Amino acid sequence: MNENTGTLTINVAAVVANWRTVAAHAHPSITSAVIKADAYGLGAAQIGSELYRAGCRHFFFATFTEALNARAGLGADSCCYLLGGVPAGAEAEAVRCRLIPVLSSMAAVERWLKWRASAGLDAAEAPAAVKFDTGMTRLGLALSELEALLADRESWLALSPVLLMSHLAVSDETHNPQNRRQRDLFFALGARVKQLQPSILLSLANSCGIYLGRDYHADLVRPGAALYGFNPVPEGASPVSSVASLTLPVIALRTLKASAQVGYGAQYQAKPGQVLAVAAGGYADGLHRILGRNGYGFCRGARVPVVGRVSMDSTIFDVSAAFRIDGKQEAAESLVIEVMNTTVLTLDALSERNQALGYEVLTSLRSGRYRREYQSEAL
Ligand SMILES: *Cc1c(COP(=O)(O)O)cnc(C)c1O
Repeated sequence: MNENTGTLTINVAAVVANWRTVAAHAHPSITSAVIKADAYGLGAAQIGSELYRAGCRHFFFATFTEALNARAGLGADSCCYLLGGVPAGAEAEAVRCRLIPVLSSMAAVERWLKWRASAGLDAAEAPAAVKFDTGMTRLGLALSELEALLADRESWLALSPVLLMSHLAVSDETHNPQNRRQRDLFFALGARVKQLQPSILLSLANSCGIYLGRDYHADLVRPGAALYGFNPVPEGASPVSSVASLTLPVIALRTLKASAQVGYGAQYQAKPGQVLAVAAGGYADGLHRILGRNGYGFCRGARVPVVGRVSMDSTIFDVSAAFRIDGKQEAAESLVIEVMNTTVLTLDALSERNQALGYEVLTSLRSGRYRREYQSEAL
């Protein structure tokens, strides 16, 4: 069955190229890939396995279930971290699937150590990571808690996490002094940890953090957004390229004979002669986020505005401009409207226009009933 839904095209080769760009910039630090939330909605299994083929060996997930779903394609030698930790009772399965929980509270540390002892495993057999808070107040041990752990050398060595991490709160604000404060706190504690446990990896920077400077790179960097095409340099040209485009099929097309009110709430008044196209895709597909206010798309190369309100399953566009070009009307079946592309309607452009975070625009596509097409590097 070929259902008439939108098509989300994901250029996985471009994701891989972006990863290589970031990795070259961060070298000699290790470059991981953050593929949480199904790789920001674009497909963690497909993207993860291609990044693995390109040499990526460290992957970050948020939840246990999303990691389980993508783990098989990532190779036994990759390190897969669970940013949200491991659910109580799932510890054994996590270890069996070689998932590494990020312990972000004292309760999580204690629960992990207790479980590990009861399972008769040591730190090498059941690896964990530790996250501490340097100024975001979301997840992570408080500084005082980390210091207390470090004060007891033996118990730190019993814990022996493979990775110590923190997260920047304002890395997209290049000149905000909070970045330096967080960096200095991070490295002050990191240096003490390294003295006790030289093999541990230190990690601080997300996409924007990586481009704040080398002094943020530590041993391992954690890009997410940059891999998916968001510009990680707020005040400069983007070093990465767009990876996703979205087209909607037109399921009804009409030329108005008389003026008419369009859509729920009858807020738009159309004139005779206007050509209106109903596209499959609405707010249930995350479209309100993508289109934003004064939304538009492209139809046969012409810029076509949204008219009326976005409905749950459909959106109406005024495609008159598309037909003025050659005057010839087509059957609705062959028409599509592009609402995101890799040239003009890029994620960066859409999020700027909508004053929405690119992250929200992209992940809102996850709810969508889209057919996904993956473009890979030629083998
Ligand atoms: C989501 C996330 C990242 C990736 O951030 P981007 O801004 O998308 O690069 C890195 N680290 C942590 C802890 C995260 O939650």
